[in-house]
Amino acid sequence: MRLIIMGPPGAGKGTQAKTIAGHFGIPAISTGDIFRANVSAGTPLGVEAKRFMDAGEYVPDEITNLMVRNRIDEEDAVPGFLLDGYPRTLQQVEELDGMIAFTGHSLDTVLVLAVDDEELVQRLLQRAQSEGRADDTEEVIRRRQELYNEQTAPLIDVYRERGLLLEVDGMGEVDDVTERLFEALATVHES
Ligand code: ADP
Repeated sequence: MRLIIMGPPGAGKGTQAKTIAGHFGIPAISTGDIFRANVSAGTPLGVEAKRFMDAGEYVPDEITNLMVRNRIDEEDAVPGFLLDGYPRTLQQVEELDGMIAFTGHSLDTVLVLAVDDEELVQRLLQRAQSEGRADDTEEVIRRRQELYNEQTAPLIDVYRERGLLLEVDGMGEVDDVTERLFEALATVHES
């Protein structure tokens, strides 16, 4: 099973991704987490990515695409995966199509969490306090939202046209959102 979860920064993708991936026994692959792990470990990839992340900018497509390609080539991702935070640009959509087609599979579903922009800023500022992420200042959060609206939101239409989109209300309690996601998935997959 090959899934994508999308939504603006702070929509709660990471939390939901882990639950859904766990349920289906596939890895949740978060590009943000992989970048952060590389930054912590001080790898060349991390050094390169950090400049962009700290400013709330997207890491260039070539770097991100290669990283995802390597990750989904790993053993645990052979039966499938849930991508969290990728693709974020039209170019990444094309790359991903190529990667999946190469293995003879296809994308099953794209989940989208719909959340209100102002509520998001508040959530992210709270997360900044509890987790201390360097890119959770108000200015950087606004920039990430702007980029999302400009570059990533258009992907929703692309996947809708392909008939892959499942849009779910991402507001409210985490468990309620999880339940909505599983209900939506049950309409297309046996779970
Ligand atoms: P959020 O969705 O809350 O902004 P993530 O943890 O998904 O946070 O991503 C953090 C940062 O990592 C992004 O702001 C960006 O700099 C970088 N990043 C993650 N995924 C991608 C991607 N697919 N393309 C480009 N940059 C990315």
